[in-house]
Amino acid sequence: MIGAALAAGCNSTNDSTTPEPSAKNVIFFLGDGMGLNTLTAARIYGVGEEGSLTIDTLPQTAFIKTFSHDSQVTDSAPSMAAYMTGVKSNNGVISMDSDATQESDCSQSAGKPVTTLLELAKADGRGTGVVTSTRVTHATPAATYAHICNRDLEADIAAQLVPGGAGYNGALKEGLDVVLGGGSSFFLPAADKGKREDGRNLIDEMQAKGYQFASTLDQLNQADAGKPLLGLFGSSHMKYDLDRPASEPSLAQMTLAAIKQLKDKEKGYFLMVEGGRIDHALHDTNAKRALQDTLAFDDAIKAAIDEVKKTDPELKNTLIVVTADHDHTLVLNGYAKRTGKTTADNPGVLGLVKNYETGEPSKDADGMPYTIIGFGNGYNRVDGSRSSVAALDDATVSADDYHQEVVVKVGDIGNETHGGTDVFLGAIGQGADSFHGSLDNTAVFGKVKAAAKL
Ligand SMILES: [Zn+2]
Repeated sequence: MIGAALAAGCNSTNDSTTPEPSAKNVIFFLGDGMGLNTLTAARIYGVGEEGSLTIDTLPQTAFIKTFSHDSQVTDSAPSMAAYMTGVKSNNGVISMDSDATQESDCSQSAGKPVTTLLELAKADGRGTGVVTSTRVTHATPAATYAHICNRDLEADIAAQLVPGGAGYNGALKEGLDVVLGGGSSFFLPAADKGKREDGRNLIDEMQAKGYQFASTLDQLNQADAGKPLLGLFGSSHMKYDLDRPASEPSLAQMTLAAIKQLKDKEKGYFLMVEGGRIDHALHDTNAKRALQDTLAFDDAIKAAIDEVKKTDPELKNTLIVVTADHDHTLVLNGYAKRTGKTTADNPGVLGLVKNYETGEPSKDADGMPYTIIGFGNGYNRVDGSRSSVAALDDATVSADDYHQEVVVKVGDIGNETHGGTDVFLGAIGQGADSFHGSLDNTAVFGKVKAAAKL
């Protein structure tokens, strides 16, 4: 009986006309520096304590360990490379094995390139795309399509994108289908106000290879889905969402534009979308811009899910993964009364800690009010007693340019460090149910690869 049942089961699953479902489309969302505290703060900032961001609605979740090969606290290069390649590398290194160390000139550097998910997708004939709010040559996007011992060599990283040009990454075959973000300076020669010292104009070179070029939202919207697309919106990073002019696309608009370029690819696609400037605002200990950029990242996730569901309503062919590369040192202090979301009249989570019974500002040991959001390190630290300076008020601390106070002073604005705490991962769609528990960042690679059958 058992044998007959097995045989029958075997026959019924051997129907060659119905292949096992797989995630032929993968969208990998990366919130740079978007630690759990930042996620909670962004939720309160955007929708209040009881609300849910799109990230909160993802059905499968896991915690991710982020340490790199040589450091307890990773930078964005090895952390993204771990997701993209399954290999732990050293800080500063882009998608190379652990023999590679960050050196100013990589020509003598040890180590070998390791294959990325994007390259595997390319080898399988799928569409490929990269979207970011940073320079497209910055560490996170670079880890999908480039291999180099030093993340700072962005002119060399840009050259890896140009089909057939010197320094091209041949594993990208005829090239990526869509590349959107900031950073035209590393594509242009010094004579054209760029940063390239080899005199090359990579935008011209890519156009000569059939790429369309966009530098405004209007041009992006006019792009033809039948041709590859390079969009560079600004010479360096794109604007923070709080400061973004109408002529510059939002992360959600770029994500939808990329899906338009990729959705008709017969074999599917691999798309990486980075909310890259969450990290920069956190390095500045400027929580407001970090939280606003986290909401812009969440909007992009919502836009992608809604768009993909138009043709794949149950996400049977699509896996969407959302995670971060590392934490920062942002904390939520005190027993704050609930604030609700931030509005023009309500500082919300950006405000002072108020006693949850009396509503009066809570006081530190110096008898002074303090903010809900603080940082473990950064530049804004009062020397001596906090009573030696003016008491903080909600208008001051919820202003766009306020930099929260820190425990350890480490230098100028921008010097706040990453944190070493685990990060969140959420997933939805085909293969999402393989993500659960506590995972090393390198394990994510294998799970995406298996779900996508790459
Ligand atoms: Zn990062």
